[in-house]
Amino acid sequence: MTSTDEFRARARAWLEQNAKPFDEAAEYDLEGTAVPLEESKRFQKALWEAGFAGITWPKEYGGQGLGAAELIAFNEEAADFELPTGPFTIGLGMPGPTILELGSEEQKKRYLPPLLKGEEIWCQLFSEPSAGSDVASLQTTATRTETGWIINGQKVWTSGAQHSDYGAILARTDPSVPKHSGITMFIVDMSHPGVTVRPLVVATGHAPFNEVFFDDVEVSDDAVIGRVGEGWAAAVVMLRHERVTIGTGARARSNPLGFDSLLELARARGLDGDPAVRRRLALLHARESALSAYGRVLHEESIAGVPIGARGSAAKLAGAELALWAADLAQDILGADVALGGTDLERVVMAIVAAPGNAVAGGTNEIQRNIVGERVLGLAKDPGVDRNTPYNQLKLSR
Ligand SMILES: Cc1cc2nc3c(=O)[nH]c(=O)nc-3n(C[C@H](O)[C@H](O)[C@H](O)COP(=O)(O)OP(=O)(O)OC[C@H]3O[C@@H](n4cnc5c(N)ncnc54)[C@H](O)[C@@H]3O)c2cc1C
Repeated sequence: MTSTDEFRARARAWLEQNAKPFDEAAEYDLEGTAVPLEESKRFQKALWEAGFAGITWPKEYGGQGLGAAELIAFNEEAADFELPTGPFTIGLGMPGPTILELGSEEQKKRYLPPLLKGEEIWCQLFSEPSAGSDVASLQTTATRTETGWIINGQKVWTSGAQHSDYGAILARTDPSVPKHSGITMFIVDMSHPGVTVRPLVVATGHAPFNEVFFDDVEVSDDAVIGRVGEGWAAAVVMLRHERVTIGTGARARSNPLGFDSLLELARARGLDGDPAVRRRLALLHARESALSAYGRVLHEESIAGVPIGARGSAAKLAGAELALWAADLAQDILGADVALGGTDLERVVMAIVAAPGNAVAGGTNEIQRNIVGERVLGLAKDPGVDRNTPYNQLKLSR
């Protein structure tokens, strides 16, 4: 038995003892809050204590100091269970790895262990009402003081802001230079009195995102992630982590639009013998397997320090397209019951409604196509007419 096999067996045994196995028949939680926050924090802490949080992160920052093989083994085993770790997905997938890559020693020691131990939750404060796909047009400002900065502005679509302790925010620190150059990334304390979080209710009836307003929010100099004026480079690092995280999740049995679930659904509705449905299920299996193999490669390379660059966008695009394609198949299997419903169908119906969000979150499919076209395939660049104009001379919608 190799050390990875041993790790896998230990992970399986721990999950069997401590996590809920995926149950297709379990009632769907229509509130969308899914898991109480305290339970989620307790579970994340237990994961960490058992040695399964921060598997590839260095030990000095609370990680396990292991390799990609162990991470993949754990994710594969965990795919059979429902882990109540949702509130930590953003922190562990985006700000955490960005701090690990660009943060100061103090930031790594201060912020990474509490994140791994389930003590602090993070959000990502990039999008604004007039700066979504074109994040670099952002209007939130951070103005210099003697000891730090004062942030003013508004963010939107901030997932999980309602229960976050910290956020990674992009703000404009120099309007006299072109828009990509005058941005800085900061760590912001979400309990600061100048931070106001307002929920946004979406089509599923849940409120997973928020508008977040910043009124004279003070941050100190040591809140800067990376360097002042180099926030765009930090954003690119975070978006790369985000795209790999979103695009390459392990094939989870709990995914209502995954192969296992849709095969069950087709069986339950007597359609697993239908040649057209069988063909599409086979294609779903092939696409899912190809994406998971691609995800493995990207994880292994990124942990080994091989630059994955824009290939993260290719993975994110493929994952979003796959979810839309699977949602289409699920709708055809369900026929009119998509609308008529039934409690046993809630999971899959909610996943169908939520699927288009995958094609927007973390950058839309059109934007990923642009990135893949330009940086992977070497096609001509989007004109980007305002790239070299100082930000304060641009005509922006307010
Ligand atoms: C589920 C979900 C979770 C999210 N969570 C967060 C979060 O936690 N934090 C955060 O900061 N943001 C978050 N977002 C916001 C998300 O990043 C933005 O919605 C996204 O970047 C698109 O921006 P926009 O909505 O302003 O659309 P726009 O930029 O206005 O785009 C509108 C349309 O125009 C197209 N378009 C725009 N520019 C181009 C171009 N150059 N070429 C071709 N087509 C173009 C777009 O692809 C899109 O179809 C989340 C979004 C979703 C759906």
